[in-house]
Amino acid sequence: MKDKVTQLTASRKQLLDRMPDLSTVLPGSLLNRMVRCNKPGCRFCEKGKGKGHGPIWILSVNLGNRQVRQIPVPNELRKELEESLRAFAQTQKVLKQIALLNLELFKERKRQRP
Ligand SMILES: [Zn+2]
Repeated sequence: MKDKVTQLTASRKQLLDRMPDLSTVLPGSLLNRMVRCNKPGCRFCEKGKGKGHGPIWILSVNLGNRQVRQIPVPNELRKELEESLRAFAQTQKVLKQIALLNLELFKERKRQRP
């Protein structure tokens, strides 16, 4: 049935429209933690009471080969970074869907050969 190819091609177009701006993508995840300054008498770091300073934000990037890099993130860059991380995740998700769809398309085209 030719309709299926048309349908799959239309779905692929829709997926491509959901692809984010690739120029912004950045891999990794954002973590935060409290830190202790170890200065005597600091009320934020007081034993048993203080929660420490922060939170400080850290970008954790898996570079492959069991290499993980942790990069501190300045507050003023965090929002932009979060958008880049989201764009990367979205890109991966959409790419996977397009690839699976192309697999279906390939099978359908193969089936439709005269
Ligand atoms: Zn402190």
